[in-house]
Amino acid sequence: MEKIPYKIFLTEEEMPKSWYNLRADMNNKPAPLLNPQTKQPCTLAELEKVFCKELAKQELDDSTRFIPIPDEIRNFYRMFRPSPLIRAYCLEEKLGTPAHIYYKFEGNNTSGSHKLNSAIAQAYYAKQQGLKGVTTETGAGQWGTALSMACSYYGLDCKVFMVKVSYEQKPFRREVMHVYGASVTPSPSIETSVGRKILMEHPGTNGSLGCAISEAVEVAVNLEGYRYVLGSVMNLVGLHQSIIGLETKAALDKYGIKADIIIGCAGGGSNLQGLIAPFMGEKIRGENDYRIIAVEPKSCPSLTRGAFAYDYCDTGHICPLAKMKTLGSNFIPSANHAGGLRYHGMSSTLSQLYEDGLMEATSVEQTKVFEAGIEFARVEGILPAPESNHAIRIAIDEALKCKETGEAKNIVFGLTGTGYFDLFAYERYRNKEMADYIPTDEELQASFAKLPKI
Ligand SMILES: *Cc1c(COP(=O)(O)O)cnc(C)c1O
Repeated sequence: MEKIPYKIFLTEEEMPKSWYNLRADMNNKPAPLLNPQTKQPCTLAELEKVFCKELAKQELDDSTRFIPIPDEIRNFYRMFRPSPLIRAYCLEEKLGTPAHIYYKFEGNNTSGSHKLNSAIAQAYYAKQQGLKGVTTETGAGQWGTALSMACSYYGLDCKVFMVKVSYEQKPFRREVMHVYGASVTPSPSIETSVGRKILMEHPGTNGSLGCAISEAVEVAVNLEGYRYVLGSVMNLVGLHQSIIGLETKAALDKYGIKADIIIGCAGGGSNLQGLIAPFMGEKIRGENDYRIIAVEPKSCPSLTRGAFAYDYCDTGHICPLAKMKTLGSNFIPSANHAGGLRYHGMSSTLSQLYEDGLMEATSVEQTKVFEAGIEFARVEGILPAPESNHAIRIAIDEALKCKETGEAKNIVFGLTGTGYFDLFAYERYRNKEMADYIPTDEELQASFAKLPKI
């Protein structure tokens, strides 16, 4: 057998030609989105008022297994895909583990994360529909950056509502968006009625993803030629991200490697859903078995401690309701939380798979997360995003378990992006200024009590 190279590249021709819609293979489909007023399942016509037409169709489609990737999107992908699957030989050696560790690196583009995979697809469909522009929210800033890049490529206007605390703490992220021609507004703002209402009720608030989503939706539905797009949580985003998993599977197959454990960080769930899609499909169809592990912050533990219920996707309650693992739409992680993955809910697809016992989830403290990220950075030569550090933490822990048992398991994890804009957080960790905050059961119960009664 040929030695497995450090970087397993696929050729451009080997890059997948279709996205894989995991929902088509699920026995228990994720519950439908509900209209927040009527509480009835959202129709295509309703979704089309907020979202691009083709994207709304993709959101509702839970039966087509493969959806062809339009050539224009595939050609854009060629600039940064296929992304490498890297054998972490140096990390393995440092850990002294018999495990084989592989990571799929999605940080090889200017936006620095996997988010460009969906941003370019969403901008393409917006352009095709003849729209003038799109609105969106961004938290840490990766999605806003990716979408600005995609919109500038297609000559679309891009209005980003950026969670205020990030807007202030990450001026360089903001500037990248400006370079790509986007407008960036700190949220909550006085530009929208929902923003003004939130500011009145919570003066001096730092903002949250939920607020920023409400503002972006309000602008999109009131501005002619605009629609709202988003970078996680929804099924259509997971669909676009399936390219990550399809490439990973193709690269492993090329060398006859069978993954034993697949690990990914989970915020709204898009990268994890994409990474695991083809593996989970095999698992559901009974063709292969894999351990699949979602990793989330202990300070925002939607899968491990959330309720499985219909909830609002945004603070202003103007978006459709989704049935998901949720901490409640008013939940905001403690102010000292620095590791990203701060959304209150989780993709309805991943939530259902978790409820059905098809995947595991675990949560970790942020200090342990940064410790793992630095250990990784020092041997593997990539400065990982704090979000990615969650997956690194559990990959290292699993590799250390293999050291005890002497098992040479194949561990695959998603390295979703780079951490150049998160150096303040790294600095706080190194200066031992970073604390761990874990919400109490009482806090979570109080939040669950406000879930909509459906
Ligand atoms: C946005 C982001 C995540 C989390 O989002 P998911 O939708 O859960 O994938 C993880 N890593 C990076 C680098 C991100 O930018």
